[in-house]
Amino acid sequence: MKIRHDYKVAVADGGWRMVDLGLTTGLDSGDITVFDRENDVIYALPAPSDRLPIRSWKDVRPEDVAVVDPDGNTLPESLTDPTVELPMHLAIYAARPDANAIVHTHAEDSQVFAAAERDIPTATIDSYTRAGFGPIRCGKFGVVASKELGDNMVEVLAGGSKAALMARHGAVALGPDLADAMFTATVIEKAARQAMKVASLGTTPEQLTLYHIFDHDLARDIEEGRVHLDTQTVTIQRLA
Ligand SMILES: [Zn+2]
Repeated sequence: MKIRHDYKVAVADGGWRMVDLGLTTGLDSGDITVFDRENDVIYALPAPSDRLPIRSWKDVRPEDVAVVDPDGNTLPESLTDPTVELPMHLAIYAARPDANAIVHTHAEDSQVFAAAERDIPTATIDSYTRAGFGPIRCGKFGVVASKELGDNMVEVLAGGSKAALMARHGAVALGPDLADAMFTATVIEKAARQAMKVASLGTTPEQLTLYHIFDHDLARDIEEGRVHLDTQTVTIQRLA
């Protein structure tokens, strides 16, 4: 098991980015993990402690980043304990081998949809593809730090989605690396803001569908399973 300093730097920088992008409302709300699958080590923003009272994610330095194993055990090398939402991150990593990074946000506009337990309609190409060719779905409510919350998020992310809402709580974005997951986190927030702005124009945001993107026959073939659509790379493969 090898602890890599560059991963700690990436996670600490991610905390700064999350604040600068308006993806957290302050203190330690929201969090980030990165999974080095080669070495079976997960790097996580830390939980506040006496040693590290977190007033903002900008307080976290690389050496403060918690290191845990895939079962959630804090490694002896770690100076801190991980974020309380670690069980949710572990559940998603176990269910989604394509995910190596998770960004959990408490941003203003997506939290409005989470508060109302409503899906965010994806009316633009970027939000639609990131959400796995559907709306950004809202998972069932789960208590903070519970295994149940993780199970609920795995359920709502099924089908290749990289984005989902946590009821009454926030949002989750996952990706093959931290840059990708962070971008998806901004897309969730943008989709929520745009859905409300479209509503302010007096129209209901129209959910994008396969029929907007592909010709009719291809869209139908995807829907009926004759063509596989890779939701990560947005490539299509005709099945025999
Ligand atoms: Zn949270």
